[in-house]
Formats: sequence, structure tokens, C-alpha cells
Amino acid sequence: MKKRIYLDNSASTPVDARVLKAMMPYFAKKYGNASSVHFFGQEAQSAVDIARKKTADFLNCDTSEIFFAGSATEANNLAIIGVVRKFINEKREGKPHIVISKIEHESVFQTVKYLSEIGELEYSLLPVSKDGIVLIDKLTELLRGNTVLVSVIHANNEIGTIQPIKEISLLIRKFNKEIGKNILFHTDAVQSAGFLNCDVEALGVDMLTLSGHKIYGPKGVGTLFVKSGSNIEPFVLGSGQESGLRSGTENVPAIVGIGVALDLVKKERKNIGKITALRDKLISEILSEIPNSKITGSLEKRLPHHISISFTGVKREELVIAMDLKGVAISAGAACHSKALKASYILDALGLSEKEKESNIRITLGRKTTNEDIKYTLKILKETVKKLRQ
Ligand code: PLP
Repeated sequence: MKKRIYLDNSASTPVDARVLKAMMPYFAKKYGNASSVHFFGQEAQSAVDIARKKTADFLNCDTSEIFFAGSATEANNLAIIGVVRKFINEKREGKPHIVISKIEHESVFQTVKYLSEIGELEYSLLPVSKDGIVLIDKLTELLRGNTVLVSVIHANNEIGTIQPIKEISLLIRKFNKEIGKNILFHTDAVQSAGFLNCDVEALGVDMLTLSGHKIYGPKGVGTLFVKSGSNIEPFVLGSGQESGLRSGTENVPAIVGIGVALDLVKKERKNIGKITALRDKLISEILSEIPNSKITGSLEKRLPHHISISFTGVKREELVIAMDLKGVAISAGAACHSKALKASYILDALGLSEKEKESNIRITLGRKTTNEDIKYTLKILKETVKKLRQ
């Protein structure tokens, strides 16, 4: 087999060598607990402080508004459970109401669904167009007097579409003004952080989630930005790390890693055009050379490295496996879905036909993708789709 080609960068990215180098000392040399008062502890604490500053700079917020967690999944849980707990603890009347889009990541969707099932909240789903963009006009109809939170993903992992976060924020602020409330607005920026501006002021969000391993940083670290004064309480209780919002000894190497990874995202922005050009080349060649292939979701409002595409008549699991046997790693939707082979609620939300859904795959390029990779992928994809269709 030729060398293996990795085109699943939305599932995870390799740790950048510069990130790894920065992390290494914090495993076995500078191993102190950031909460300890002695030299070793202070050494770890100052590394966490530096990472917090880098993260705050990336998001254009204050360091006191950055909270590190064990993953983006946990950070998303914190955003939702934290707001609900606050509502309950304040003994406010009724149940809190949350609006999420129909194309949220499972860490948002399952959390909201579970809390609703145990009777702790009510929720509404904001629909999307067939292009995978939220129908912003419908939001006003969904907001209520007891709405405490709106959560809309910045860019979707499965179909790559980019959502109008600023416009949604303006709408929520207008509603807040009219009814004298403070509905919080959260966005999951896990997939967008590597490519789009995540300035929280410009986006107008109260909370924002990041993940280390989608931006060439380590797995097992997430960040939640929480605008100061937001109504939120912790759900991981213990020794009160992270200003009491997320207890648990700080994962110093991983926190150092996400800080450096975010710095590098800014430096690497100049190379995004190269990735986009390769992606666009692959899209146009697939569309012209593989009959009955169809892009899923908007082509314009899409992450620059992302392809979501259907090949009618092919089963997506079979295609992913056949491609892997030829050395090309792509995925059937989101990483969590592809193993479980579950139907995708994201594709359902777009109203795709059964044939489109069952044949939909995701190809996501990365910093290391080359022209040769794209050429080989096209060749193998053409052969494989043809073979599976026979
Ligand atoms: N949100 C989005 C949009 C994702 O794509 C992912 C990972 O697949 C997550 C959240 C969860 O991130 P983590 O793996 O850090 O828990």
C-alpha cells in the first residue's frame, strides 16, 4: 500500500511538534500540582496562567473568563448544566427553557435531551435550511419568558456549515432588551476555532467552547469562555479549581498544549488559502468525474477544509472501509457516529433523502494535506464508488 493519507481532521488533528515540545517538560520534569504553594506548584501554576492568557488573547476576553475542562464535551455540559443549576438554585418559578439548533454536536444535544427527560428543563429546536444554515427568523418564535440559554454551533462538525452567530446574538440582545431578561448565548466553536475569527466580542456570545485536539493540540482538554457576570454554577464539585467553576487538578501539560495550539492557529491562518484551494480542487474533480455525487450543505458558508458529500447507491460504511483498505482515512459523518453506524440527526435536519443520507461521507483536509494526497484520493474514490455501485 502507498503511504496512508489522513483526511479526517474534523475528528482529530495530529499534535503539532511545537505544541508537543512545549508540553513535554510538564509531564516528568515540572510535575507540580498547580494548587501547591511550593516552587513546583508555582511553576505549574505559572504555565497554566500563561496558557490562560494565550486563550484569552485568542478569544479577546479577560483571563478571568477562561475555564479549562477535561474536554469540549465537558465544557458544553458545563455551559448547559451550569445555567440550569443556577436557575434551579435561585428557586425561580417554572422550568428553565433552552433553545438549541437541530445541528448541535451530541455533547450539547444529549445533555439537553437528558435534562429534559428528567424534568429539569424544556427545550426547543431551531430548524435549519436544506443548506444546513439555521433559520434565524424562527428564533424569535422560540424565545420565551423562561428562556435562559440559546446554543448554536459556530460551524458544524458533520456538514461543515458556518452559522450566523453575530446575527443570532443581535436578535437575542434585542429580545433581552424588550423583555428585560438576560438570555445567555453559547456557541460551540470546536470546529471553527482553527479557521474562523472567534473574537467573543465580535461574535457577541456569552459562552464559547474550544477543544484542544481539533486545533493540533492534545486530546483531553477543553475550554469554556464564560462572560463575567453570567448566571452559571459548577457541576463538577470538589476542591474549587478554575475559580470554583470546574474542580479537579489542572491537566497542566494539556492546558499548556491548548494555549500554544491557539497561538499557532493565529500564525497558521496564512496557510488556510492553500487548504481551501486543495479542498476546492477535490470537490470540483469529484463532482465532474464521479456521477451522481452531491455536496451536502452550503458550499459558500462552509469551513475551508470540509467536504460533506453523497454518492447515491453506495453505503457510506462500506465506502469508508473500502477507502481505508486503500490507505485513505475519511469518515461517515461525525467520529462518534461512524463507529456506532447510527443514522445522523444532522442529515435528517437538512431533509436529505434516504439515499443521500446512507451514502454521505465526510472528507476533512489538514495542514499536512498535499496535492499528491488529493490526487490519490480522487483516483481511489472514483474506483471505489464505481466498484461499490456495481
Ligand atoms: N463539539 C464539536 C462540534 C465537536 O466536533 C466535538 C468533537 O467531535 C466536540 C464538541 C467534543 O470535543 P471533545 O472531543 O474535546 O470532547
